[in-house]
Amino acid sequence: MKRMRLDINGIVQGVGFRPFIYNLAQRFSLTGWVKNVASGVVVEIEGGDSAVAAFVSALQTEVPPLAVVEKFVAVESLPKGDTAFQIKQSDIADERQVFISPDIATCADCQRELTNPSDRRFRYPFTNCTNCGPRYTIIRDVPYDRERTTMAEFGMCSSCRTEYLDPTNRRFHAQPNACPVCGPSYRLIDCHGQLLASNPLETTRRLISEGAIVAVKGIGGYHLACNAFDNQAVVELRRRKIREDKPFAVMGGSCSAISRHCLVSAAEEKVLTGTIRPIVLLSKAPGYALAEAVAPDNLYLGVMLPYAPVHFLLLGSDDVWVMTSGNTSDEPIAYSDEDAVARLSLIADYFLVHNREIYCWADDSVVRVFNEKQFFLRRGRGVAPTPLHLELQGPAVLACGGELKNTFCLTRDNMAFISAHTGNLENAATFNAYQMMIEHYRRILDITPEVAACDLHPGYLSTQYAHDLGLPIIGVQHHHAHIATVLAEHDIVDEAVIGVAFDGTGYGIDGNIWGGEFLLADCCDFTRLGHASYIKLPGGAKAIKEPWRQAAWFLYSLYGRDFINKNIPLNLYLPFGWELALEAAEKGINAPLSSGIGRLFDIAAALLGICCTHINYEGQAAVELEMLSAKAVGALLPYEITDGGMLQLDFRPTFAAMVEAMEIGVRRASLAAAFHVTLATATVDMVYRLSKLTGVKKVALSGGVFQNMSLLCRVVGALTKDFDVFFSSRVPPNDGGLALGQAVVAMKRSG
Ligand code: ZN
Ligand code: ZN
Ligand code: FE
Repeated sequence: MKRMRLDINGIVQGVGFRPFIYNLAQRFSLTGWVKNVASGVVVEIEGGDSAVAAFVSALQTEVPPLAVVEKFVAVESLPKGDTAFQIKQSDIADERQVFISPDIATCADCQRELTNPSDRRFRYPFTNCTNCGPRYTIIRDVPYDRERTTMAEFGMCSSCRTEYLDPTNRRFHAQPNACPVCGPSYRLIDCHGQLLASNPLETTRRLISEGAIVAVKGIGGYHLACNAFDNQAVVELRRRKIREDKPFAVMGGSCSAISRHCLVSAAEEKVLTGTIRPIVLLSKAPGYALAEAVAPDNLYLGVMLPYAPVHFLLLGSDDVWVMTSGNTSDEPIAYSDEDAVARLSLIADYFLVHNREIYCWADDSVVRVFNEKQFFLRRGRGVAPTPLHLELQGPAVLACGGELKNTFCLTRDNMAFISAHTGNLENAATFNAYQMMIEHYRRILDITPEVAACDLHPGYLSTQYAHDLGLPIIGVQHHHAHIATVLAEHDIVDEAVIGVAFDGTGYGIDGNIWGGEFLLADCCDFTRLGHASYIKLPGGAKAIKEPWRQAAWFLYSLYGRDFINKNIPLNLYLPFGWELALEAAEKGINAPLSSGIGRLFDIAAALLGICCTHINYEGQAAVELEMLSAKAVGALLPYEITDGGMLQLDFRPTFAAMVEAMEIGVRRASLAAAFHVTLATATVDMVYRLSKLTGVKKVALSGGVFQNMSLLCRVVGALTKDFDVFFSSRVPPNDGGLALGQAVVAMKRSG
């Protein structure tokens, strides 16, 4: 006879782990108990020596699909003579510490029930079990049980209750358990609130095939859906949503529907069909035949597969629908019913709604696959609020994040909880939502921050919010935070690296706008070793929205007014009164200095006639330049590195060479490619020089510019021979990753 206690850590709660243990114990005729505790799950088992050994080995090889055992410790103790095996109630204090699971895509078992005419959940759009279904978006408070979720309004029928109470059932303690008898339901209304049809899902399908735009309430909020093959419908959606060019994401009814239009590698298919089911950025395939307006002038298409039962029921296997977040540009996604009808009634023809409240919204997560691994570009549904484990301890920190693509981060001990994507805080509705979400996270994670961390930019609303909290404040330089994010993810907590932080705009400590930064950085502090040369932004923020200003200023500083006689595409797009903008810049009126790499992309694009007059979304010039560059191979153009105590990387020779090449008729695509080659080569050149200077052999790459695959592949490819190269995968390289970096710097500095 033997008794053993097992302490199991990892993702072992809300994933069917206790019933799994219960069933194992039954199989080997063991007695004892299992319960959830703060750190995971504790099991005590008692029985014959060989049965106990068999249990321990099965425990490691048969874990449920969503569970991840990170660590387990087994200790032998004296037998107690238990007579049965039971699932013990957890202590309330422990439950409050429990990890809250993200929402999980419908599992294979539930998918089978949806399509089985003899199952009692046949075609029921709220089917879920312990292995799948909504979690984070329905939780009002902790501990996590039905009473504190938005399922509280629905009393379980006797069949559902029987499943819920049966430890051998897949729905044992599945809090959102429901069926057609007792659970929520869908209905279809028109934009005047008039109820339509008794079969809402079939009618929605028909309306979409006829060209309608339908707002579909899902897991984390509303989507706007239309047929992705119907250019007229997609153009109309763009017009109503006031979204001119920014690509729409689509949902395909099956992997094969997607692979007709996009290249899907085995690794990409794995991510598409996994438990998160994010939007995956895929390269368009030669046979691409979706409507032109879905993702104009873009190499990539954001694609996802059905993840909620309603999607499986709506989309046929050959269908591809635009599924874009239900909002007007820049506002947060609509998730409450009144709000959706109020805000979306000018966009959607119909509303497919349900009566289960979404308590906390979550945009779809966005990833791309690189080197067979998934890289997050946006963290939302399916990942929030899963914590990252840090290799450092410190006080509880609330890191308030940046301004665009904001997320915030709360820490407890060695765990960092990064929020779902909140959006652009310049928008008042988003800023309100941000503050609400911070309160919600503090409550459900039971964290009382002791320190606040924020950007140094005094104008960011997140910075002002941090200062109003009345906590000790730690300000973290924007690009240092970008690099610290990478260090945190890769557990480099006591070592300095060469940090390459490329983005559009970040507040610099010399009063200029930074964004092409080479830092010697660790988790605590940084030294600026080099940067892209400063260039003037004629008209300040206007120069970013209207790239011709930057390009014309560059040409003017090089050739004087004569540049207007050059035979280059830019000159066709100069607006009336362009001289005034340049004269003002010459006098230094509203012409801040920027080292942002994003601005170099703007100039290169505008010189080639791309996005000259204005951009319609952040990063558009760079996206379209990358698209053009894929059509050619590029030669290396000249650049200059000067050393005046700090290395400066000057791309004026690059642009001058581009102008000369255009004058002799070199193709624009070749020059777009050449710009990428030159930027990558110059970056690598800088890293080698700085490594020689410092002896450092580790390099961290971060910032929104590294979302450019052409640049990332070239830089990583060239550096891996002599360096250990790190970049983030679980956190976005763009400003959506800032909060994590801010948090670790604050923990380190207050430790
Ligand atoms: Zn399931
Ligand atoms: Zn029921
Ligand atoms: Fe940034």
